[in-house]
Amino acid sequence: MIEKTLVLLKPCTLQRSLIGEIIHRFERKGLRLAGMKMMQLTDQLLNEHYAHLSAKPFFQRVKDSMMAAPVIACCFEGVDAIQVVRQLAGPTNGRLATPGTIRGDYSMSFQENIVHTSDSLETAVAELNRFFKPDEIFDYKQVTFDYLYANDEY
Ligand code: ADP
Repeated sequence: MIEKTLVLLKPCTLQRSLIGEIIHRFERKGLRLAGMKMMQLTDQLLNEHYAHLSAKPFFQRVKDSMMAAPVIACCFEGVDAIQVVRQLAGPTNGRLATPGTIRGDYSMSFQENIVHTSDSLETAVAELNRFFKPDEIFDYKQVTFDYLYANDEY
């Protein structure tokens, strides 16, 4: 199924001048960039976005880290894009992530781990609505589409 997913390039990624390299990974994989913008996150938005972490001792620290500089929010699209993007990112702790994954190649940290990626279809829909207005998601045809997939794969 063709899916859309949210990727946030975190403040650490902006500060380390890795934005281009990380977007390049998703582009090379064949994902279609459907939306992209720079945003300063707020405490209110992060209380929603990270609600599942609200009882954790590191909740405030994670929120502060996400507000330390702007983020780049991206919407990527492709067949099974949610799982594909999660696998490209690797597990949460950068020190444990396998080399070859984004976190495995660029992160030494549990917290400063380069990207956020949606973890399910339900979450992706909710997160894309939270970060993008409908007219900020673009539906153009990806000219390489027929060379990225067999015609029974989507
Ligand atoms: P993921 O981003 O891999 O989906 P979670 O949703 O569990 O992971 O956590 C959200 C973010 O909170 C992580 O990306 C990371 O920045 C931070 N985080 C999660 N667990 C920890 C932890 N044990 N120590 C420090 N930071 C954490």
